[in-house]
Amino acid sequence: MRIASTISDSIVDGPGLRVTVFTQGCPHACPGCHNPETHDPQGGTEVSVEELVELFEKNRLVEGLTLSGGDPFLQAQECAALAQAAHARGLTVWTYTGYRYEQLLAAQRNDWEALLAETDVLVDGPFVEAQRAYGLGFRGSRNQRLIDVPKSRKAGQVILWDDGSKALSHFSVPES
Ligand code: SF4
Repeated sequence: MRIASTISDSIVDGPGLRVTVFTQGCPHACPGCHNPETHDPQGGTEVSVEELVELFEKNRLVEGLTLSGGDPFLQAQECAALAQAAHARGLTVWTYTGYRYEQLLAAQRNDWEALLAETDVLVDGPFVEAQRAYGLGFRGSRNQRLIDVPKSRKAGQVILWDDGSKALSHFSVPES
C-alpha cells in the first residue's frame, strides 16, 4: 500500500498512545487541507502491511492504530488487513475519512465494508474551513463526527463515540 508517513507515538489522533498511518491519496480536495502532499495517489512510499504491523509490535505501550491520510478508503482492503492485525493484538482502530458514513454504506463496496468492519471509531466528513474550531477533540471542523461504528452498525443509526447514546440520523443499512 502507499503511505505518506507514519507516527509511532501520537496522542492527538484518538485516545491514548497510538500508531498513526497517513495513507497516500485523497480525492476530496478540502480547501484548507493541512496535508496536500497526501492527495496524489501515486505519491508517497510503497510499504507492505507487514512493515506497518511492526510499528505497533515494537512498542507494547501503544493502545491503538489510527488510519488517517489522505483517505484510507482509497486503499480500504489493505487498511482493513492492517486494522485486523491491530485488533488481533488488542488495539483499538480509529479511521479518518473525507467521506460521510452514509456515503460509505450506500456505496455497498466490499472493500469499504471490510474497513468499516475493522473500525471502532470513524471520524467522517470533509474538513470544512468555515466550521473549523480549536479544541473540538480529534477533529478539525464541527461537521465531522466521531462515530462509534460497532454500535452504529448494531443500531442501524449513527451513534456518536463520545457518550454512545446520541442518534444523529436514521438510515437503512444496505444489504451486502
Ligand atoms: S479529506 Fe483530509 S486529506 Fe483529504 S483533502 Fe480533506 S482534509 Fe485533506
